[in-house]
Amino acid sequence: MRVLKFGGTSVGSIENIIQVKDIINDQEKKVVVLSAMSGTTNALVTISEHIKNEQKSKASAIIDGLEISYKETTQALFSNEEILLNVQEYVQDIFYYLRRSTDKKYDQLLYNTIVSYGELLSTYIFSAYIRQEGVRVQLLPALDFMRIDRNNEPDNFYIRQNIHRIIDELPVADVYVTQGFICLDVDGQVSNLQRGGSDYTATIIGAAIRAEEVQIWTDIDGFHNNDPRFVTNTTPISNLSFDEAAELAYFGAKILHPQTVTPVRELDIPVRLKNTMEPNSYGTLITHDVHGEGIKAIAAKDGITAIKIKSGRMLLAHGFLKKIFEIFERYETSIDMITTSEIAVSLTIDNATHLEAIVEELERFSFVEVDNEQSIICLVGNSIIYHNQTHKLFQILQDVDVRMISYGGSHNNISLLIHSDHKIETLQRLHRYLFESITV
Ligand code: ADP
Ligand code: ASP
Ligand code: MG
Repeated sequence: MRVLKFGGTSVGSIENIIQVKDIINDQEKKVVVLSAMSGTTNALVTISEHIKNEQKSKASAIIDGLEISYKETTQALFSNEEILLNVQEYVQDIFYYLRRSTDKKYDQLLYNTIVSYGELLSTYIFSAYIRQEGVRVQLLPALDFMRIDRNNEPDNFYIRQNIHRIIDELPVADVYVTQGFICLDVDGQVSNLQRGGSDYTATIIGAAIRAEEVQIWTDIDGFHNNDPRFVTNTTPISNLSFDEAAELAYFGAKILHPQTVTPVRELDIPVRLKNTMEPNSYGTLITHDVHGEGIKAIAAKDGITAIKIKSGRMLLAHGFLKKIFEIFERYETSIDMITTSEIAVSLTIDNATHLEAIVEELERFSFVEVDNEQSIICLVGNSIIYHNQTHKLFQILQDVDVRMISYGGSHNNISLLIHSDHKIETLQRLHRYLFESITV
């Protein structure tokens, strides 16, 4: 069985919903994972922010607008009166619960519940639509099998057991539609896999059912060699290795949730990225195979904090690094980049929740400087540190204010730390030099 995940844009308009139906309607058995219709999760996040700030009327105004757009969509999508009425009832129920949330006290559970409505709506509407169009479809409620553990990792044993059980109990179908993004936490409460998490849902399910392939259908023709939101003339990459894709996703390439390849890489289940609007274009295939050499793609991750830790004594005393790492470990804060000199260590973190406490502990034995608003630019490709063209990168760096550089940590990654204000310009400059004027 294959798993096909369709993102927000793919289910965000009548035209695209019809397109998705055509893509999946080939009589092959499959699991279809859907995101919320584009714009919905953002609207739900804004609604919960208004509730948090006790601005009920602002929350209600957004709910009203959202409900109108759902009414219009369902009205246009369904010709079968009975199915239309059933879907309208479901949509009304969700909006009833959404309105009731505006009277509740804000907490994490309320937020998680509100943002779960997007995927509940899209999957209900979509499965009803394809049923109307004659597809043998069953809805698999993600909250009946998708669960994370105490460390917020997928509870693979639970997921595998339950998804199989549910599929076996349901009437036979060709298409099993389920919600991306949402799950239960270790206490059985509604939770999620973080923004963009439907990609992750797809590969978790892919691993659970040992799918032959996981396909991520989105609004672009595959993984591009740079971020198309900031750089023009980016081009799709036909093949990526799991390692390359993992680095790029982790270091900010929005097209994939950072954890997407984790569940499937060990099982060697290929991940294919495809464009819903152009199903015939090749897209990107992610497997263990390694293609090409040299710098293949660039991505950037914002929200990075750099911490410089200077040893109280002049020489980097033995045991100094251990002391530092222990502090970060205690606060469960992972380190992304690290460089050392004789007297200082610079490192970066992307989660500043415990920054104050960490700095306070570090200052007990060192001098600490903190720089916020940093971005990591990550250059990825097979064997890039050995490639004879990689030196070109260093020629560009004379024009870029680089705060840290990490080279040699792995064969396929070079990372630069810069101030976020220079991100777009740096991405463009690197692109022009590495991919356009000079072929690497
Ligand atoms: P979906 O809603 O389908 O999950 P996303 O918006 O999460 O779609 O991801 C697709 C978008 O990711 C693209 O439209 C593009 O703007 C952005 N993007 C960022 N970096 C890349 C990249 N390297 N290659 C392709 N798309 C990228
Ligand atoms: N709907 C969720 C989001 O917007 C999950 C996803 O689209 O992958 O973040
Ligand atoms: Mg996405």
